Amino acid sequence: MKGDLRIYVHIPFCKSKCNYCDFNSFAGMDYMFKPYFKSLITEIALYANELRGRRIDSIFIGGGTPSYVDVQYIYEVLDCFKFDQACEVTIEANPGAIAYHNFIQYRQMGINRISFGIQSFCDRVLMYMGRVHNRATAINNILECKASGFNNINADLIFGYPKQTMENYEESLNVIKSLEIPHVSCYSLSIEEGTLLDKMVKKGLMPYPDETLDRAMYDLSIKSLQKANINQYEISNFAKPGYECRHNIGYWKRDEYLGFGISAHSLFNETRYSNTDDIHQYIATLNKYEKPVVDSNVLTQEEILSEYIILRFRLNSGLDIIDFKKEFDLDFEKTYKDKLTNLITIGLLDKSSNAYYLTRLGMDFANKVFVEFM
Ligand code: SF4
Repeated sequence: MKGDLRIYVHIPFCKSKCNYCDFNSFAGMDYMFKPYFKSLITEIALYANELRGRRIDSIFIGGGTPSYVDVQYIYEVLDCFKFDQACEVTIEANPGAIAYHNFIQYRQMGINRISFGIQSFCDRVLMYMGRVHNRATAINNILECKASGFNNINADLIFGYPKQTMENYEESLNVIKSLEIPHVSCYSLSIEEGTLLDKMVKKGLMPYPDETLDRAMYDLSIKSLQKANINQYEISNFAKPGYECRHNIGYWKRDEYLGFGISAHSLFNETRYSNTDDIHQYIATLNKYEKPVVDSNVLTQEEILSEYIILRFRLNSGLDIIDFKKEFDLDFEKTYKDKLTNLITIGLLDKSSNAYYLTRLGMDFANKVFVEFM
């Protein structure tokens, strides 16, 4: 059995659906809050054996928009877990779906990290995205969050959105810096099939994203945030020293985690599980006191090895060959000699002391590197 455990809880409800979103989230289904949370609590109870005797190092309440539901529901979920003050407890919040008193209540129930879905500080871009908030609301919510005593705050940003300009993306980064937000996740837009944005682009109502601009924005994120000591530590994540997200680092280091709620995934006993993505099936299954797992895969040694390599390469610290040897009793350099030589020659990988890591070019073509180790 591995050390500490991580917990993910999925809350799939939102105030409205954003134009680019293909997450398993619903707007206009507030009437499902009560049965959904009842099922969530039943599901957690069904994992009593897995939870017993394990220290929880992080809990991440994600969505959807967890801040959209009544805080009492969040309290009831957190009350199912035993965790201490050292546990990193994050909740995702969206501007326009949170108020000052909510931050106070969150702190009282042990939440110590807020992750805001900001996406942009430009009102025009927010409108193209179909977000419910505007710049003023976002800034106000962040200031309220800080005033309530939170200092561990993340802001998600999207770049490469159609009609987004370099200037307004830079301005968003500048607002982040001026508000002294210590953690930023910058995601390159990908247009997902079936979303409103996808339909608009196909109909010619919105332009296709400009790939060159997208890469220039990524470069800007790295350089601009670095000037404020918000340093890149993963392909899409940046933090001031000490503010790196422990929960996500745990995913990349293959710590064990249990996911609860629709579409939630788990890694436990070297088995990957996933829950149904159908909310009605989720509730019906839990009403019968059965786990809503629809897929489970016991990982082979090859799959574990492959996951380990790919996930470590996501981190700027890269893959440490001494750690690798300890974990698998294998010499990384000898085992992958030809692949490593080739990836270094074409400029996608580099090595410093004991670690191999993606170069800046390697981050643009990360999938090309990953595929080599699948
Ligand atoms: S708030 Fe987040 S989860 Fe909800 S619709 Fe928008 S992008 Fe999707």
